[in-house]
Amino acid sequence: MKTESKPPLTEALAKLLELVLSARDVLIGTHLNPDGDAIGSALAVSLWLDGLGVPNEVICHNPPPGYLEFLPGAERVRLAPERKGHDLGIVVDLDALDRLGACRPYFEAVPQLVLIDHHQPHEMPGDLRIVDPASPATASLLVDLFVTADATEFTPNLLPVAPQRGLQGRPSKSVTPDMADCLWVGLVTDTGSFRFPNTTAHALHQAAWLLEHGADIARVSDEVYLNRDEQSVRLLGEAIHRMKTDCEGRIAWVVLPPELYEELGAKEEHTEGIVNEILSIRTVQSAFVLRAGKHGKVKGSLRSKGGLDVAKVAQEIGGGGHKNAAGVTIEGSLEEAEAIVVRALREAIRC
Ligand code: 5GP
Ligand code: MN
Repeated sequence: MKTESKPPLTEALAKLLELVLSARDVLIGTHLNPDGDAIGSALAVSLWLDGLGVPNEVICHNPPPGYLEFLPGAERVRLAPERKGHDLGIVVDLDALDRLGACRPYFEAVPQLVLIDHHQPHEMPGDLRIVDPASPATASLLVDLFVTADATEFTPNLLPVAPQRGLQGRPSKSVTPDMADCLWVGLVTDTGSFRFPNTTAHALHQAAWLLEHGADIARVSDEVYLNRDEQSVRLLGEAIHRMKTDCEGRIAWVVLPPELYEELGAKEEHTEGIVNEILSIRTVQSAFVLRAGKHGKVKGSLRSKGGLDVAKVAQEIGGGGHKNAAGVTIEGSLEEAEAIVVRALREAIRC
């Protein structure tokens, strides 16, 4: 695959391989309310370790959302580890350990921790950190690592079996078609199906590479995008109905109270995607959605277009993320949180 000028990953890969090949049991984790990149990346790492013969478990604060249950290995994601005594942790797609939610203590207990991530770093957890905020997805960083692994002699060949489903090119030594599905989901969802500004030429080369290596993109599209619960679409309808705007339509937002979820029989995961619908309004520079989380906390999703950096806005009020997609968890009522986010955005937009 063609690559653009990125720092060589060989060194990071060598360290990663050294750690995983000497580990007895690896604990893999990702952030709470996991999305496609979180689950796709965690499962790709798990399947990779399977191929290397390294025992591993995957845990997450929440089970995978319904639209990711089809992914190879999704059934292995647990809320807590089944075994004890893991000697290596690998966490993916998060920039701060509190994003692990209830899984955090398990990772604090492992003697060595690897972090693979693409968020703007603010906390710096992990003994080995493979972090690139320029990378569109954690899955994209993993593809780089696996492509690098293929080019090294010291990588064991994971793919002795032929023929491989959907394989259009020479088999990869590291990436099976099942892994390609997981990585494809991460890349597709975090780039908004290759529409967001984080979609680089490199990401598109990686997409082609994953297709060549067995990713079943038609299946993934059906499972991820044509598989919504009815409540999800009804919640979207209610959300749009309740939308508020400010600054001559440059900010638009929705506050979703718990009663609404009860009334519709909707779940937390049904909130995903609403914020992007609001952002699609021509005048809107920034959109956000607030909903009541657990323990009196409010969960906010922020999005922006172009130069407006909502990661900075989110960091100012205790959250984080990427330039055009960030999130925050605020203690207090929905009304209080609404006032905090509106004020921070008005300051950022200067209106
Ligand atoms: P989403 O709005 O899809 O939940 O999250 C968008 C981005 O913001 C993700 O990259 C996610 O990691 C980050 N993010 C979401 N919620 C939080 C939060 O409460 N704290 C921090 N630090 N980042 C968040
Ligand atoms: Mn991600």
